[in-house]
Amino acid sequence: MTLRGRCLCGACGLRVEGEASAASACHCTMCRKSSGHVRASARAPEESVTIEGPVTWFAASESAERGFCPGCGASMVWRGHGEGMVSFALGCLDGDTGLRLEKHIFTADKGDDHEIADGLPQS
Ligand SMILES: [Zn+2]
Ligand SMILES: [Zn+2]
Repeated sequence: MTLRGRCLCGACGLRVEGEASAASACHCTMCRKSSGHVRASARAPEESVTIEGPVTWFAASESAERGFCPGCGASMVWRGHGEGMVSFALGCLDGDTGLRLEKHIFTADKGDDHEIADGLPQS
């Protein structure tokens, strides 16, 4: 399966070949600030993810960086140093993905504007 995505302005693209896993909604403070709310993403091995266009990397912490489009600001990808995996935003994908959210993570940082009521596991 190949997943394809683009940022809002279309300058940056994303292609994921093969299996993606661990679709999750992250409620951590960094995801909230960079995405504007909850960041829904899935992961795939680095070698199966192709990132196109002028994606700009921001070192959000000592252990990870976040890639965004410098034109429209879309938050697209995340990678932890030494993990060999890329996490890509589900919101950037075009068309049907076959992916389903599996869990909520970092819910201790969740904003008080909503409750999680989908019954998925929370951590
Ligand atoms: Zn863009
Ligand atoms: Zn997060």
